[in-house]
Amino acid sequence: MPENLYAGFDLGGTQLKYGLINDTGRLVFKSQALSPPDINSLMALIQGVWKELERRYPGRIKSAGFGFAGFFSLKQKRIMQSPNYPALDNFPLFPALQKIIPVPFAVHNDANLAAYGEYLYGSARRAHSLVFLTVGTGLGSGLILNGQLWQGKGGFAGELGHITVNPEGLKCGCGNFGCLETEVSAPALVRNYLEFSGRRENPTAREVYLRARAGQLAARKSFERCGYFLGIALGIVINFLNPEKIIIGGGVMKAGNWLLKPALAEARRRSIAPAFASCEIRKARLGNDAGLMGAAAWGRHRMETGNRSL
Ligand SMILES: [Zn+2]
Repeated sequence: MPENLYAGFDLGGTQLKYGLINDTGRLVFKSQALSPPDINSLMALIQGVWKELERRYPGRIKSAGFGFAGFFSLKQKRIMQSPNYPALDNFPLFPALQKIIPVPFAVHNDANLAAYGEYLYGSARRAHSLVFLTVGTGLGSGLILNGQLWQGKGGFAGELGHITVNPEGLKCGCGNFGCLETEVSAPALVRNYLEFSGRRENPTAREVYLRARAGQLAARKSFERCGYFLGIALGIVINFLNPEKIIIGGGVMKAGNWLLKPALAEARRRSIAPAFASCEIRKARLGNDAGLMGAAAWGRHRMETGNRSL
């Protein structure tokens, strides 16, 4: 008998990643497409992807999970606000998805589901507590406590990206000022670089990384400033939760120690020594697959626990 499969979709500001896992959590198929700018095109894309998956694996896909960028309300079953994908704001997701997805499905915030993916299959397997951060276009995070995804009362838990780390900082997409996301993300890195270098150009975050590696001081200082603010946030997390693991992924973490080293130094300075010492802080293992694998596992989990509509 062919094995059951579970679909996962991970929608970020730039790409829709999707794939299928099997009963043991092995990724048997994955692909991606550019995130469409408007909601109708997004729903058409998801419908097209579903048909493609069904054509490849007819009758075998038992559930689907969707991770969307933004603040997901458990009660309203929609993304109330998406700083990095505003087309989702307040859109009635469930009726739209019910029309195109014929199997039980579940929805949550993308970083929460990436945390769930890392917890089940990645760097944090069986950790008692895990804080996951993903640093890319924005800064997403999710929290696993006692082996459970911590959703909070309304679904909005785990939004470290929108805690204030710089009271004098710039306005964030969420409306607040000086959020972790405005200080630690690809745009923040580039902004730091322009300030330190005095240049008038528009390099990518990757170019800033390459210039840091090549020894350019302005590029190195740009990473140090991002790392400083990331370290402040990590210090808060460590003192507040005493977590077993903190796992950091996302595109900017491809720079590895350029970001991590200053962050760890600052976190150490700002946290209780034994709490810092007992916390394992490292780079994520699943990379870009964490979100879609976590989404697929979440859809399956909700189906098996009898909650079709979460
Ligand atoms: Zn914010």
